[in-house]
Amino acid sequence: MRLLFCGVRGSTPSPGAEFTRVGGNTSCVALAHDGEPWSLVLDAGTGIRGLTRELGGRPFSGAILLTHLHWDHVQGLPFFAAADRDDARVQLLLPDQRSNPAVPAIEVLAGAMSPPHFPIRPDGLRGDWTFDSIDRGRHEIGGFEVVAADVPHKGGRTLGFRISDDSGSVAYVPDHRPDPVPGPELAALLAGVDLLVHDAQFLEPERAVADAYGHATVDDAVRIAQAAGVRTLALFHHSPARVDDDVDAIGKAAAGGDLDVVVAREGQQIRLG
Ligand SMILES: [Zn+2]
Ligand SMILES: [Zn+2]
Repeated sequence: MRLLFCGVRGSTPSPGAEFTRVGGNTSCVALAHDGEPWSLVLDAGTGIRGLTRELGGRPFSGAILLTHLHWDHVQGLPFFAAADRDDARVQLLLPDQRSNPAVPAIEVLAGAMSPPHFPIRPDGLRGDWTFDSIDRGRHEIGGFEVVAADVPHKGGRTLGFRISDDSGSVAYVPDHRPDPVPGPELAALLAGVDLLVHDAQFLEPERAVADAYGHATVDDAVRIAQAAGVRTLALFHHSPARVDDDVDAIGKAAAGGDLDVVVAREGQQIRLG
């Protein structure tokens, strides 16, 4: 399995020269089976735009899984050109809104993507799109095993995903306000993955803000990764205020123990397994 970081920021994009090494686009990660095109996308932040280039002229054919509906995870969706063409085939899955089960998934998404907030609705995208909900538990999506579990965050239901194929496994938890001890489903989702892509938006001195916004600190991410026995931790969902030098310093400070720690950078590819 291959992984590509298409966007690694949280909250809002951060353009500018001081952000180019880490990248300024918001959350999006693409996955592919070995030797195949990118076919599973996690979140649709502004980073998803760059995936069109990576597909080399091919239409997107696969699934897009949204962890939740916050702007930094959906605003790139209508700008994913490889999925907005007549020959694209896209299965979009967003968290089942248990608090309001009568509302179809497409209408949940349309809450953020419809006039007057945006010129078109989700069904205005070209190609063969389906819009459905995904709930906690085990799923098979495009040859990947996908396990979903609830993640404490803020403002709407949030899921985390564990994705595996024959060659490796990754857990994706971009927005997380950790409980002191993770619940059993989330703990099982994280246990022993090859790569954990985890919320690292804040630092310990910013703890009060992290709690208020429903996010983790870098120390939280390291502690969670160590407890779960993951092989590599990728610090992700960087604060849009953090310039390249700051993120590099954070990565350096977090590295050094038994745990392999990397800073997620836009455009970086990782081979799993
Ligand atoms: Zn976010
Ligand atoms: Zn969020």
